[in-house]
Amino acid sequence: MNEPTKISSGNSPAGVTPGIRLSIATAKPTTHMAEPILTRVSGVIDFKLPRAGTLLPDMDLQALRAVASRLGIELAPAQIQALTAFVTDLYATNQTTNLTRVPEGEADAMHLADSLLVAEFAKRHARVLDIGAGPGFPAVPLALCRPDLDIIAVEATSKFATFLSAHCPTNVEVVNGRAEELDGRETVDLVTGRALAPLGIQLELSAAWCKVGGLVVPFRTPAEREACATINIGVLGLRLVALEERQIPGTDVVRLFPVYEKVRPTPAEYPRPWARIKARPFSARLPKPGSS
Ligand code: SAH
Repeated sequence: MNEPTKISSGNSPAGVTPGIRLSIATAKPTTHMAEPILTRVSGVIDFKLPRAGTLLPDMDLQALRAVASRLGIELAPAQIQALTAFVTDLYATNQTTNLTRVPEGEADAMHLADSLLVAEFAKRHARVLDIGAGPGFPAVPLALCRPDLDIIAVEATSKFATFLSAHCPTNVEVVNGRAEELDGRETVDLVTGRALAPLGIQLELSAAWCKVGGLVVPFRTPAEREACATINIGVLGLRLVALEERQIPGTDVVRLFPVYEKVRPTPAEYPRPWARIKARPFSARLPKPGSS
């Protein structure tokens, strides 16, 4: 088995300190992706269908289509094929390597549609960072549905980064490393992440990456509304500008997106080393139970 290869400074994303990038050669061959799903042609993403004979029956992807149509995104058949192939390979690999606990029947709503909800916060051609992408959420559905975006997926755990490297569209750069150890300060228009860490930790991991004027929009839940509104993260250079709730179509699950604008550069001491982030995280000033 090949050793993982270092990202050379020549091909690392602009402003990102080289970390570990997994060589595609180390990944298992995929069952359906005989050819790359996407290729970049002079800055435009060109969708390629798999070779004849490898076409999968399309999943209906009703929830994903509903979010796409709400956002005015028309999904071409090649995009549906690519999303279907990704989900099929995720669950095939999940039989031997634990990548997700969401049942396959819920993947359309709970993985694809949920991931795409964050697309509304990404302006055209934005550079987007997904911290803790796991096997690819939200990075992969976002990349396949919004080929104009340039996405970096930072993932600390090798088994996820390996899967992701072997399955990511060409507009996703996978970095196997920890967000707080990589240097990509002020290089990204939108920083997001789903199920990454408690709110204060997620915001500290995210803030420095975001350009002034850009947005940090973590995936949170409505139960955290007050925490999102009161958390004291001004020192990170962030300011809350909106709290947006979106229902996942076909479910009663509601996603909360607190929208933080980066209003000032994040001081150089943030993010702190992981041990200190964990020991003293930023936390919300919630009223004591019973007071009010
Ligand atoms: N976003 C995915 C995975 C969530 S699990 C999903 O919603 O399905 C959280 C992931 O964050 C794990 O894969 C873990 O390895 C990764 N992670 C945790 N801390 C991290 C850090 N500091 N930098 C990068 N990745 C991190």
